[in-house]
Amino acid sequence: MLVRLSLSASINTPRMASSLLNKLVLHSESLNNILDGRHALRDDLIRIYMDSRNDPTELFTASWELRKKFKKNIVTFSKKAFFNVINLCKDTCSYCTYKAEPTDAKLSLMSLHDVKSMLDIAKKYHCVEALFVTGEAPELKYPEAKKWLKSNGFTSTAEYLIHASEMALESGLFPHTNAGNLEKEDLRELQKTNVSMGIMLENVSERLCNRGMPHYLAASKKPQARLQILKNTGRLKIPMTTGLLVGIGETPYEIIDSIIAIRNLHETFGNIQEVILQNFQPKPDTMMGNHAPADENYFRVIVALTRIAMPEMNIQVPPNLSPHTYGDFLHSGINDWGGVSPLTPDYVNPEFPWPEIDKIRENSAQYGFELKCRFPIYPEYFTFVSRKLRSMMGVIEDDKLVAEKYWK
Ligand code: SF4
Repeated sequence: MLVRLSLSASINTPRMASSLLNKLVLHSESLNNILDGRHALRDDLIRIYMDSRNDPTELFTASWELRKKFKKNIVTFSKKAFFNVINLCKDTCSYCTYKAEPTDAKLSLMSLHDVKSMLDIAKKYHCVEALFVTGEAPELKYPEAKKWLKSNGFTSTAEYLIHASEMALESGLFPHTNAGNLEKEDLRELQKTNVSMGIMLENVSERLCNRGMPHYLAASKKPQARLQILKNTGRLKIPMTTGLLVGIGETPYEIIDSIIAIRNLHETFGNIQEVILQNFQPKPDTMMGNHAPADENYFRVIVALTRIAMPEMNIQVPPNLSPHTYGDFLHSGINDWGGVSPLTPDYVNPEFPWPEIDKIRENSAQYGFELKCRFPIYPEYFTFVSRKLRSMMGVIEDDKLVAEKYWK
């Protein structure tokens, strides 16, 4: 319930009166404290989550207020091309349809020639971001991956990505690499060309790595391993996109702990530029094919909880995973639609095409928001990248975002 305080006998100075006139007062003391600028503690988040199961109205009111305060009426996206570089992967997550086996029709092994051709097309489409995605260290498991690397002149996937990133920059696109648990030296090299990088935390629960759970066969998804990579990126000062996969069998405590884990990383290293919240959608060809999708109300609550846990964070929900309701997430506290490609599918969720950018713009406008195109790095992190990268961005930049005349 939303209440606006009215003047009363207890308000005894004109200053007090004016500061309280428009103050939101909710029934939840935790939410009131958070709106007043206090850090949301774990107990607060648990209490707010429990209350929201009866009625989430106050939570959504608070997340909306914080979103308005810190992100105004702007919602951003990144105009990208998705480079499915190699989708062999040494791990197996029970929900993943991206991963291929060598004999699968969906196998992708992009040659450098393929990369160059796609970069040229992406530039013609006025894409800004070259998203480079691979499976986890494919050469550690598959001879086919080693052969692919050799035929392109490399010995590791990381080496390949370093070269592909240089090619992207030369073509006028900005690389953003998402290739799993990369070594620190490789991160350092990629940092020279990538304005930001990505790695999903997914969830911080060790339980989800137990037998029969989604990460049982995915050593790279062990929370300590993922957190270590994110800490390494923090020490290197790489602007990072990370996020959570919601609805894979986690408990509310586990998702709250995962939100807090990301917040802790950001408070320590200051390099988490964005949190993606992805609602689980079952894929028929996976071990979790019969698992229910993330409940939409639960997902909305998690989105709002993330906003109140990190009021100033950039929070993204992919529009293609909620094609009929994505506009609603603006009121739950998000401020970004993530990468949207006019050119390539979402290879991680191939059954969910991205909406057309014009549709996203119209939909955002209906909810009162102006759609703007950002770089793969958010303006708050521009000081993290080299002068060379900044000056290349300057060619298509306007007011720290991508100039409309370029992307529209
Ligand atoms: S989600 Fe990533 S790590 Fe897991 S199987 Fe798919 S490609 Fe491999």
